[in-house]
Amino acid sequence: MRIVRFSTGDSYSFGAVGSPRDRPGHLVVAELEGHPYAGISLTGRSHPLDDVQLLAPVLPSKVVGVGKNYADHAAEMGGGVPEIPLVFLKPSTAVVGPDAPVLYPEVSTEVHHEAELAVVIGRLCRDVPAERVPEVIFGYTCANDITARDLQRTEGQWARAKGFDTSCPLGPWVETELDPSDLAVTCTVNGETRQSDRTSHMIRGITDMIVHITAAMTLLPGDVILTGTPAGVGPLQVGDEVAVTIEGIGTLTNRVIKRG
Ligand code: ZN
Repeated sequence: MRIVRFSTGDSYSFGAVGSPRDRPGHLVVAELEGHPYAGISLTGRSHPLDDVQLLAPVLPSKVVGVGKNYADHAAEMGGGVPEIPLVFLKPSTAVVGPDAPVLYPEVSTEVHHEAELAVVIGRLCRDVPAERVPEVIFGYTCANDITARDLQRTEGQWARAKGFDTSCPLGPWVETELDPSDLAVTCTVNGETRQSDRTSHMIRGITDMIVHITAAMTLLPGDVILTGTPAGVGPLQVGDEVAVTIEGIGTLTNRVIKRG
């Protein structure tokens, strides 16, 4: 199932994207009662997908990132693969949805794209053992872990480098039925491919990441884990259109504009 959050102008709801049986190929959003984590309940109202504005598909309390999780990217960043997984946070205020503008921050002159598979958590959890990880995963979406590389280099903590407003586009929806073990991940800028790899090349798998993170902190429904970016990270400029595509999910597109 593909779960979205959407606005029709005067209200915000979660929804499920699908095609009516009598109109295959015609995509509609079926509105949900409340949130989708404790079970799907439909209101009976639906809207053509083209008539709604898609928002970030989740409202995370936090986004937890994992750094240097593809060998080629670790090599391009230097310093090799960390022995203990490198974990960082992006604040909830960094999250934006599909087609929302990314605001180029005035505090940086070197902003990079990072295409990543994002894991969405479905229930409150801590100290999750490996065998119970599937129970806490709600689904998967596309993420762009946008990073002010100059600040990341000069500041020991990455709160500004990875936490500035609009630095975490997510979407377009959460795919709840997906095997994440070998999916193509690509990033294009103005249609030109910058990153292209497969999730099978992750150094640490999703199960290990969730065990490692929940040994330290509680995760809440809607929280997001960014699983690391492949090689090929590079600069974004004002005016660029950046698109993250993940096999089996879809494409997350955002345009970079000057922060006014
Ligand atoms: Zn990243």
